[in-house]
Amino acid sequence: MNYVVVDRGDQLSQELAQRFHTLAAENGLKRDEETPEMVISIGGDGTLLQAFHTHVERVSEVAFIGVHTGHLGFFADWQADELDELVKMMANNEPRIVRYPIAQIELDTDTGLTTHFALNEFTLKGVDNTLVAQIDINDELFEMFRGDGIVVSTPSGSTAYNKSVGGAVIHPSIESLQIAEIASINNRVYRTLGSSVVLPQHHHCDIISRKEQRLQLSFDHLNITRNDIRSIRCSVAGHKICFARYRPFTFWNRVREAFLGYEVK
Ligand code: NAD
Repeated sequence: MNYVVVDRGDQLSQELAQRFHTLAAENGLKRDEETPEMVISIGGDGTLLQAFHTHVERVSEVAFIGVHTGHLGFFADWQADELDELVKMMANNEPRIVRYPIAQIELDTDTGLTTHFALNEFTLKGVDNTLVAQIDINDELFEMFRGDGIVVSTPSGSTAYNKSVGGAVIHPSIESLQIAEIASINNRVYRTLGSSVVLPQHHHCDIISRKEQRLQLSFDHLNITRNDIRSIRCSVAGHKICFARYRPFTFWNRVREAFLGYEVK
């Protein structure tokens, strides 16, 4: 089996990556930076996001595994002292492949169309002033938004930024996107629903810029600023991210442990 390691870049993560390579060589796993079958992320959830974007072109051909160096992550379930066990599992066992939806974001700009993907969410904010945008669902006007921003999250990302702005937690087996508001202004001109909206896999939304404005666009942890956005189409991507599971790592256990602090005895 071919693999690649993406580490957070701090000393501990680099040392663990080195240890992983040594154990992998001893167990017959082959390091392959170009066409790996497995992507091992060593660090935290942010490192897994980085690994996803590094391998986004081949995302449906690879399976991801997360090793965390701090507290239990949403994407990283293996602990630093479990590397031996993980490598042995990889060498000797077939993993269960779990597939989670990702978001597709198509930007219509003055210079043409570009397509991006997000594992957690796409976020849109105004840079200089509040964001002013029209939101259409399935090509029909839904609402006129004015406020700090809009978060369009995947089910995996529903526990991240989306949750902080009051969105619902969605199980990743539900192919969907959630649109959540960040501090919307409501008056006679701009009126929004006020609650988040969940779109099924076969629906899409367009966010149409309603004035000349500099916009900050975030695809997970990656930020860009543009002043030539005409509209942005968000939909559930046609392909998914795959995670390799060698032991159970259920979504609701992660939610409970991360937010409620209860551990299963
Ligand atoms: P980071 O890696 O430090 O992540 C920030 C925090 O979000 C960490 O505690 C991480 O464990 C947690 N996190 C990431 N993905 C998660 C998920 N799917 N479910 C639950 N928790 C998750 O910072 P970064 O590298 O800049 O990561 C970018 C992410 O930070 C974005 O995708 C966004 O979801 C999140 N974020 C959150 C807020 C907020 O909650 N107010 C604001 C901005 C960004």
